Amino acid sequence: MMRLPKFEYRAARSVAEALDWMGEFSGAVDKDPSARAMLMAGGTDVLPNMKQRIFTPQVIVGLRAIPELRGMVYDPAQGLRIGAGVPLNELATAPLVREHYPALAIAAEAISTPQLREMGTIGGNLCLDTRCNYYNQSEFWRKAREYCLKKGSEICRVAPNGTGCYAVSSCDTAPVLIAFGATVRIASREGDRIAPVRDLYHDDGIHPVRLHAGEVLTDIYLPALADGWRSTYEKYRVRGSFDFPIAGVAAAARFDDAICTEARLVLQAVTTHPLPLPEAEALLIGQRWTPELIEAAAGIAYKSAHPMDNTSGTIALRRRIVKAYTRRALEKLVA
Ligand SMILES: Cc1cc2nc3c(=O)[nH]c(=O)nc-3n(C[C@H](O)[C@H](O)[C@H](O)COP(=O)(O)OP(=O)(O)OC[C@H]3O[C@@H](n4cnc5c(N)ncnc54)[C@H](O)[C@@H]3O)c2cc1C
Ligand code: SF4
Repeated sequence: MMRLPKFEYRAARSVAEALDWMGEFSGAVDKDPSARAMLMAGGTDVLPNMKQRIFTPQVIVGLRAIPELRGMVYDPAQGLRIGAGVPLNELATAPLVREHYPALAIAAEAISTPQLREMGTIGGNLCLDTRCNYYNQSEFWRKAREYCLKKGSEICRVAPNGTGCYAVSSCDTAPVLIAFGATVRIASREGDRIAPVRDLYHDDGIHPVRLHAGEVLTDIYLPALADGWRSTYEKYRVRGSFDFPIAGVAAAARFDDAICTEARLVLQAVTTHPLPLPEAEALLIGQRWTPELIEAAAGIAYKSAHPMDNTSGTIALRRRIVKAYTRRALEKLVA
């Protein structure tokens, strides 16, 4: 049995208190292996990673008891505000999410297991660490194989001649929120800022989430969608009952009399960040979607996806799945 290391747990009662406590630890960086303090919401990723000694914080600042982070408010003119602490189960089952943003409910429902969805939050999902077969292992395994660049060594075991880490972005809600054009509110001791979800991520498998040290993600805002929007999320995983994605496709499009007026396509789990497909989107906009057009868009998805050999499934399989699931997602939107 893997045990948790010793750590101090502080349950913050407000965002300000969480920021103050994180600020006490100079140099504390979320998910940095050397972090002295880490935020924790549901703990469904933090705690398993601590058991594997991937995260080794001395202090955990808990966000569960912060009322400001809870609740959802929908306004037909403004859209939907979701507190970062809202559990995934609530998102998956809320009638207003299912009605107005169905792809978000589909993605939330496809994450882990019912018990973990009860604990896991959307904020924690958006800030999820990237994953790799050489990283998400016990301390014993990683030491025996020799550590990798993401933790403990100078060399990436997947691409020893590469310059970075290629661990994959695996958070299922992120591509969907990007497809909806969502933004997030980020609180820091200097004040709040709003950023598009798309800008939260970049091409760095070691520090995949662009949050400054100690910042707290507090809210997610989905814009109000005009009539005619449809959306879906297709996820490929090894175990159908629960598993991280090894290929995901978020698709959202608006139709006016069967002509597509707006389209968004975002791949997940094929690189270090969710991957928008502007070329495929441009192809679909202004068109009546025929099987040939859908096939051409799926072909662009295939060409754009360049996964590394660091999750389950071969590279060739994951690329073929990307093509098939893009086709399937687009067919669902026109069905
Ligand atoms: C068996 C298993 C299967 C899983 N399958 C999936 C899956 O299929 N898809 C998937 O997406 N995830 C999966 N997960 C991962 C996880 O359960 C979810 O991503 C969940 O949403 C994480 O939320 P949490 O609140 O538990 O995050 P936590 O574990 O509490 O935190 C995760 C990260 O986010 C940071 N964080 C949390 N809240 C905030 C905040 N408000 N502001 C700033 N930083 C914050 C933490 O510091 C940490 O770095 C799985 C986990 C397990 C154990
Ligand atoms: S991609 Fe390379 S550096 Fe990144 S976690 Fe995997 S082996 Fe480590």
